[in-house]
Amino acid sequence: MAGKKNLERLKLYIDGGFVESEKGSTRDIYNPANGQVIALAQEATVEDTRKAIRAARKAFDQGPWHDYSAQRRGRVLFQVAEAIKREKEKLARLESANSGKPIVEAEFDVDDAATCFEYYGGLATKITGDVNPVPDQALSLTLKEPIGVCGQVIPWNYPLLMAAWKIAPALAAGCAVVLKPAPATPVTALELAKVFAAVEDLPKGVVNIVTGDGPVVGQELAESPLVNKVAFTGSTAVGRSILKAAAESNMKKVTLELGGKSPNIFFADADFEASIDGALFGVFINQGEVCSAGSRILVEKPIYKKFVEAMSEKAKRIVLGDPLDRKTKMGPLVTSTHRERVEGYIGAGRKEGARLVLGGKRPGGKLAGGYFLEPTIFDQVNNQMRIAREEIFGPVAAVIPFDGEKEAIELANDTPYGLAGAVWTRDIYRAFRIIKQVRAGILWVNHMQPTYVEAPWGGYKMSGIGRELGKYGIDNYLEVKQVHINLNEGPIAWY
Ligand code: NAP
Ligand code: MG
Repeated sequence: MAGKKNLERLKLYIDGGFVESEKGSTRDIYNPANGQVIALAQEATVEDTRKAIRAARKAFDQGPWHDYSAQRRGRVLFQVAEAIKREKEKLARLESANSGKPIVEAEFDVDDAATCFEYYGGLATKITGDVNPVPDQALSLTLKEPIGVCGQVIPWNYPLLMAAWKIAPALAAGCAVVLKPAPATPVTALELAKVFAAVEDLPKGVVNIVTGDGPVVGQELAESPLVNKVAFTGSTAVGRSILKAAAESNMKKVTLELGGKSPNIFFADADFEASIDGALFGVFINQGEVCSAGSRILVEKPIYKKFVEAMSEKAKRIVLGDPLDRKTKMGPLVTSTHRERVEGYIGAGRKEGARLVLGGKRPGGKLAGGYFLEPTIFDQVNNQMRIAREEIFGPVAAVIPFDGEKEAIELANDTPYGLAGAVWTRDIYRAFRIIKQVRAGILWVNHMQPTYVEAPWGGYKMSGIGRELGKYGIDNYLEVKQVHINLNEGPIAWY
């Protein structure tokens, strides 16, 4: 414990200042690659959260942010993007050390975060309304206005990038925000707070970042009558509780980006080597801690056996190791609790009769001190097993055979989720038939996972409500106002 004195005490970012929580209690922040404590984060209370909400409320209601021109707001976002690029090396290193993701992937995330602020900085000046063709002597206008104060709750798998996905469109729209990072991974969001603090033209209180427990800070954001909108990414269970809290408080608007159990569908005519790569990349990228992970690998029967063999062979070459080593392809899972949860699913898969073809164990040796887990592949999986139905959010692939297009589509859609899916084939007609029939928000053909800030992201069914990113992403932060201007002088015909 003596060593804790030297650890950085991360602060809450409220109303433009860095402050301790009212009770001063902190949480240990770990490096999941070695289990060492790397920082202390504030554990905010309901009152701390309310302070942040009031700061955002004041910044929104009393301006000057509200009255900035769209150009000026856009330029603020461009400055944030430039600062992120300048800090790239540091941000990537911190992200990797706090979340366990390989440094190369952390660098991609930092680039994407900067791109997100650039994209929405540009979009700020493209928010337009309409002139509606009403039949009377009147001018009917549709105006778009910022929705107000936004509570934003994010998970730990892409800590910086999720903060960018949430904050950038909200600021472009003219909103004020209170963001809650996931408790285990607050480091880069609070580094981003320093960026906001240094951008002179961003008024204080427009962005607030509050670390702490979901059922405390997140719940308050969902329940507060002063919050106009909540944006959440995380589990379906918490998404449901946020929706309830919103309904029972002030009917705040809610967007949810929830889990998935996405099918990655392989036909016998597809490029075989590319398919193997796509199956592995689709499910093991970011240690499988990806909402759109292709965790159900559906393979056409004629190639099924060969496919499982080739996948397992190639998966052995995935380098599990120190996230800061550029050769590493998979780092540790984010926390020891999460690893146990994933291991629980591996146990369930075995019990239900799936065949463990590869992995399933914790690596020993130099990696024994971290929360590592081997890439794990099950075959002979039935789509009714828990490992095929529930989101595992770790490096566990369920390989399921199918016979022809019809069965592929039935299996793909036999899930409560609908976030993403992919199909691999050389037959363009078949590819179109499949993508039209799979009920999911994101479909890839002959690839899986490329994600762009310019294109919409979100799910069908229990994978969520609404879309983030692209032009859709900004609508979440805008209200629509209809304005009628009477052009008929004189008395109104009613009398
Ligand atoms: P989670 O419980 O949904 O957490 C996501 C965020 O919501 C965290 O910041 C969490 O804080 C917060 N939260 C928890 N309870 C809340 C409440 N009542 N009101 C408002 N906010 C609340 O997810 P998790 O526990 O980290 O992971 C569990 C599973 O969720 C994963 O294994 C995975 O299946 C799924 N998940 C999905 C995504 C995705 O991108 N769709 C991301 C992460 C996880 P606390 O951690 O303090 O509770
Ligand atoms: Mg949770």
